[in-house]
Amino acid sequence: MALLQPVEGPGGLHGRRKLEVFDPATLERVGEIEVASAEDVWVALERARKAFEDWCLLSFRERGRYMLAARDVIVQRVDEIAETICQDTGKPRIEALTLEILGACDSLTYYAKNAERLLQDEKKSLHLMKNKKLVISYRPMGVIGIITPWNFPFLLSLNPAVQAMMAGNAVVLKPSEVTPFVGIALTQIFEAAGLPDGVFQVLTGDGSTGAALLEAGCDKISFTGSVRTGRKVAEACGMRLIPCTLELGGKDPMIVCDDAKLERAARGAVWGAFCNAGQICVSTERVYVTEKIAEPFIARVVELTRDLRQGPEVEGDVDVGAITFPPQLEVIESHIMDAIEKGAKVLTGGRRNPDYPGYFYEPTVLVGVNHDMKIMREETFGPILPIQVVRDEEEALRLANDTSYGLNANVWTRDRHKGKQIANQLKSGAVVVNDCMVTYGIAESPFGGVNASGIGRVNGEIGLKSYCHVQSVAMSRFVTKREYLRYPYSAKKLRFVRKVIDFLYRSRLGKLFGN
Ligand code: NAD
Repeated sequence: MALLQPVEGPGGLHGRRKLEVFDPATLERVGEIEVASAEDVWVALERARKAFEDWCLLSFRERGRYMLAARDVIVQRVDEIAETICQDTGKPRIEALTLEILGACDSLTYYAKNAERLLQDEKKSLHLMKNKKLVISYRPMGVIGIITPWNFPFLLSLNPAVQAMMAGNAVVLKPSEVTPFVGIALTQIFEAAGLPDGVFQVLTGDGSTGAALLEAGCDKISFTGSVRTGRKVAEACGMRLIPCTLELGGKDPMIVCDDAKLERAARGAVWGAFCNAGQICVSTERVYVTEKIAEPFIARVVELTRDLRQGPEVEGDVDVGAITFPPQLEVIESHIMDAIEKGAKVLTGGRRNPDYPGYFYEPTVLVGVNHDMKIMREETFGPILPIQVVRDEEEALRLANDTSYGLNANVWTRDRHKGKQIANQLKSGAVVVNDCMVTYGIAESPFGGVNASGIGRVNGEIGLKSYCHVQSVAMSRFVTKREYLRYPYSAKKLRFVRKVIDFLYRSRLGKLFGN
């Protein structure tokens, strides 16, 4: 059974295609959604443009009030929302609460309370033109198109939307077709919070709706998803000359040094690889452990993995949930098969879970892996933990950097100074020392990747500012009748400018000014 099934072709009811959605853990039907057409996208854009006119005039405090009201609605409806997230994704309820809802409440609260401070005008005193002053302002852009994936449908849709709205923009969100009911829940939350009409809209649909949003004339696109789609988004935005933020995939390495705390590192590896069934852009996708501690580390990782409980959830008693998107199972299986054919050994797992009809893949630990295998080079996005034993930390670092990605990484050592040094040598947008994955959850931390993992940053001051036009306003401190170096030019002015250059960059006094 496919998770998504078209139930009506073009020209059906309302002239829109429909898609049926199933719970990946139980295979029960959740419902059906309409695929918004290009015309729907245009209508939403128009509505958003109108809403923007008033929204951008509100103070930060007024905008923040709506965000805090939305947070209160979430807290009131927490069980209902968690249920929707679980049905769409097949994840355990505790992961819906900790990784999505808690993060969303924090995002609403943090940006409601801090956006004004982070986006306030910056007054600069100038090092050269002392008669001028500069004010840098962060102005809203207009309408932000947000396109999001299925792995964290609540947090990854709400978090960029909150930042865009607090910066004064209107938002049109296109959530993943795999988890559309979470997107619909978000509309209901903002409606209940009394958000003015058109400031936040959701268009359900698949890639065709996303593609229409790229063409519709947004002022910026914030995209989270695969590298493959990310390239299409970048191309479309390039053609329209609009900015885009691309939060793409990862193949995050974990480096376990000789002096790592073994129990903590083993637990970190297991949670980092199997949380959300490994369907996290910042999940641990490959481990390099030095030969000195490899044996006890691997033994403990296997032991902890075998203790994990998997299946559809009853009352919080499940550790590892379902694979949300069925085609992802094929990717996982092909990576495992390729690794085994090339000599890898499965220590535990290595197959679909036969106990349940839903899409479950057993938490899997592999050893004997190397960089000729897909499992060490391509994003698997599943509950797989391949461990490569290395001679020393230097080799670990070299292999960790042998990748086209660069989203997140983690390093485990008792020596914090060494941890920081290794972190700085990793080609990665973020690194965690003695923990994993937490970077997305730290509101102050800019988040994003290098290389194929993306362009730009979300979160924190840098992320918030990326939803703004940066405007420089230069003002004269005092106004004279004329400026000496303007027309008419003359030989005397020429000599004067030569003297100024000599003074500034050759004389001792000029150098004292810092030039
Ligand atoms: P995807 O690229 O298949 O889809 C993402 C979104 O793009 C969906 O809403 C989809 O409908 C839409 N889309 C598809 N084709 C489109 C097109 N031509 N034009 C515009 N939109 C289009 O990704 P996915 O499978 O939903 O998500 C998994 C991927 O997301 C993984 O690679 C994962 O690493 C990545 N991800 C990255 C981050 C991050 O912050 N860096 C976070 C979560 C997930």
